[in-house]
Amino acid sequence: MTEQMNAPVRDGILFVISGPAGSGKGTVVKLLTERHPDIHLSVSATTRNPRPGEVHGVQYFFITKEEFEDRLKKDAILEHTVYCDNYYGTPRDAVEASLASGHDMILEIEVDGAMQIKRKVPGTVAIMLVPPDGETLEARLRGRGTETEEVILRRMARAREEIGLMGDYDYVVVNGNGEAEQCADDIYEIIMAEHRRVCRNGAIREGFFKN
Ligand code: 5GP
Repeated sequence: MTEQMNAPVRDGILFVISGPAGSGKGTVVKLLTERHPDIHLSVSATTRNPRPGEVHGVQYFFITKEEFEDRLKKDAILEHTVYCDNYYGTPRDAVEASLASGHDMILEIEVDGAMQIKRKVPGTVAIMLVPPDGETLEARLRGRGTETEEVILRRMARAREEIGLMGDYDYVVVNGNGEAEQCADDIYEIIMAEHRRVCRNGAIREGFFKN
């Protein structure tokens, strides 16, 4: 095969998806990437402990604080944050490899990391996924039945901050009860629309007339 045949037909785009706990972003992103395996999902590194059923290298790379700080020093982490006393960060190599091979990549990360990525990687598209309103959010958090009152209040306070930053995002998608499938479709439409932006398709105009 020639080098040209191996070249990606289009550039990959980086999408960050954020949303408060209870927005359903884990479910929506899972549906989206299962339906569209050509869209890659970044696996973050974290220093938090695995929850039951979580597997190293699948949901996260579970590493120690020392390892995380070592990777930070080596500039191997594209963005990072401290969330509830633990480090979370995006490994740089997988993102660079996906984009270079023409694959879109999704980062499911919180707002602070999302804004770091927007500054560092021009052309990043930021999507916020939200429940319809605050009452629905609180009902979802309480409905899980696994959290203490203190944790619920902390998450609600954090959600207020996150919703306040919506203006820094490019798109908002509302996830009503039972609408995860629809939201996955909505996000896929955003992805497709972003690929059709004129600014990402200079080659069409440039190569249009052969002489
Ligand atoms: P959890 O501990 O519930 O899996 O994740 C807690 C929060 O950390 C979620 O809002 C999740 O989106 C965010 N998060 C997960 N990975 C990363 C990452 O690599 N960077 C940043 N900035 N946030 C992350």
